[in-house]
Amino acid sequence: MFLVSLTKSFVIKGFSFREAIVHSLSLSGQLGGHSNVLIIGLARDGHRIKVDVTKYSWAQLDTRPWGQDLPLQCPQCGTPLPWARAKQGESYVFECRFLSCGWDAKKRTRMRPPFRFAISRPDHIKMLPLGKKTGAGWLKIPVGTHHFTFTQEGTAVLEEDVEMDG
Ligand SMILES: [Zn+2]
Repeated sequence: MFLVSLTKSFVIKGFSFREAIVHSLSLSGQLGGHSNVLIIGLARDGHRIKVDVTKYSWAQLDTRPWGQDLPLQCPQCGTPLPWARAKQGESYVFECRFLSCGWDAKKRTRMRPPFRFAISRPDHIKMLPLGKKTGAGWLKIPVGTHHFTFTQEGTAVLEEDVEMDG
């Protein structure tokens, strides 16, 4: 579905490649549950080449907040229950729902609080408006841009540090 739509949008309808990607992702929510999409752009200018990498990742509040997979079971008690979720600013805090999480049955006492962790909003990400659903959508995550210079021997040398663009 994604590749067919990308081909139609870019080759047949004449969208720019970036527009075609965003349009095709909006029709491909099921793809996001299984895979990220990496776009590697190359631009050559004489002896310089620019490599620009962007990741598109599906985000879903209860399973992939900010595009990061949640554990299927609690690492403390092993219970495979859905996580209790609370929002704190742009972060989400998840807590194990099992009432005995952290409880020692032999000592009949709570040894630890229920397992809890936070997932923060990564820097530089943008939620794409096309294809967005309640609690789910595609994220555009710039991975970075590298510049290389070709030497006279034809070797590509990394020229600068990674630059981030939004
Ligand atoms: Zn637990």
